[in-house]
Amino acid sequence: MNQLSDRVKNLSTSATLAMAAKARELRTEGKDIIGLSLGEPDFNTPDFIKNAAIEAINQDYNSYTPVDGYLELKNAIATKFKRDNNLTYKPSQIAVSTGAKQALFNIASVMLNEGDEVILPCPYWVSYNDIVKLNEGVPVEVKTSIENDFKMTAEQLEAAITPKTKMIWYSSPCNPSGSVYSEGELRALADVLQKHPNIYVLSDEIYEHINFEGGHFSMAQFDDMYDRTITVNGVSKAFAMTGWRIGYIGAAEWIVKACTKVQGQVTSGANCIAQRAVITALEASPSKVKYMIDEFKERRQLILKLLNGIEGFKTNEPEGAFYVFPNVSFYFGKTIKGKTINNATDFSLFLLEEALVATVTGEAFGNPDCIRISYAASQNDIIEAIKRIKLALA
Ligand code: PMP
Ligand code: GLU
Repeated sequence: MNQLSDRVKNLSTSATLAMAAKARELRTEGKDIIGLSLGEPDFNTPDFIKNAAIEAINQDYNSYTPVDGYLELKNAIATKFKRDNNLTYKPSQIAVSTGAKQALFNIASVMLNEGDEVILPCPYWVSYNDIVKLNEGVPVEVKTSIENDFKMTAEQLEAAITPKTKMIWYSSPCNPSGSVYSEGELRALADVLQKHPNIYVLSDEIYEHINFEGGHFSMAQFDDMYDRTITVNGVSKAFAMTGWRIGYIGAAEWIVKACTKVQGQVTSGANCIAQRAVITALEASPSKVKYMIDEFKERRQLILKLLNGIEGFKTNEPEGAFYVFPNVSFYFGKTIKGKTINNATDFSLFLLEEALVATVTGEAFGNPDCIRISYAASQNDIIEAIKRIKLALA
C-alpha cells in the first residue's frame, strides 16, 4: 500500500525535468528527438572555470565546507553584486546553496507559515508553485497577458494582495517568457508595496546576464525595498554550469542566518570543488562569457522568425533568458493526424510524438494557452525542429 505523505502525494513532478527524462527515454528507444524542453545551455563550462576546479582538486579541497559557503566565495559574490548590480551585501548577508533551486526552497521554508500567500505573476518558473506548497504556503497566481509582455502591472499586484500575502516571487529575465522588468516597472510595483510593509520580494535574477537589450535592474537597488528583497542568483545559466549546482542569495542577515540553519540540517555546505571554481567564474569579467549571450541572441532572432512562419503561434519578443513562450490556443479543439488537441499539454505531447520535438506545456508555468520552447540548442537543431513542427501541423 502507498504510505507516502500527503505532502508528497500532492507534489507535482518538475515538468521540465520530466520532459527531459521522457526525451532521453525516447532517444534510448532509437527515436531521433530534438530536445527543446530543458533550460540548459548547450555550451561547455568555459576552460578557465574548469581549470580552477582541477586546481582545487589538486590542492586537496575535499573537506566539508562552511554551511553558508567559503568566505572567499562570499567575498567574490559581494564584489559581483556591487560590480554588476550596484548592490551592497556584506558576506554575512550572503549564503551559498546547492543551486538556486535549493536557495528558493530554503527561503520558502524560513519565510512561510501555513496559509501564507505568495503572489506568483504567471507565467512563473515551474518549481515556484510546488516549492511554496511544499512549505505550506498558498500560491496566488496573477494572470498576465502577452500584450503586456507577460508582466504583472501595479494594478494587478494591488488587486492580488490580501491580509495573508507574505511574499511575491518573480524572475527577471523571466523563465519562461523571457520578459525583463524595467526599472520603471519595478518602481511601480515597489510603490504598491510601500502601502504593505510586511510583504517580502524574492527577485530571481539567475538569467541576469542573458539579457539582449541590456539594462538589468534589481528590486533591491531601491533603498526602500532593499531590506525586504531577497536577491537570488546562480551560475547555472550564464556560465553553463548547470551540473555544478551552485546558487546564492543576498538578503537581510536574519534571513541568511535562517536559510543557513535550514541548510545545515539538510545538505550542509555546497560542493567544495564547485565553490572554488565559482570564485574564479564570478571574479572574471562578465565579458568572458559574452560569446554565449551573443549566440543566444542570434538564436532568438532565428526561432522568432521561424515560428512566425507557422500559423497559430503568437509570441512576445523575449528580451532575455533562452525561451520563447508562444500562445498556441489557436490549435485547441482541432484534430490533427487523428489526435485531438484540447490544451497546451496535448499540444506539447503532439509535438513530441508527431514532430519528435520536446517542449514543455505552459500549464506547468501557470499559463495553459502556451508552450515553452528552449532555444538553448544549436541553430541546426532549432531549424530542424521548427521544420518538423511546421510539417506535423500542416
Ligand atoms: N530559477 C529559475 C528562473 C530557473 O530557470 C532555474 C533553472 N534551473 C533555477 C532558478 C534553478 O537553477 P539552479 O538550481 O540550476 O541554480
Ligand atoms: N531551470 C531549467 C528549466 O526551467 C532547468 C530544469 C529545472 O531545474 O527544472 O528548464
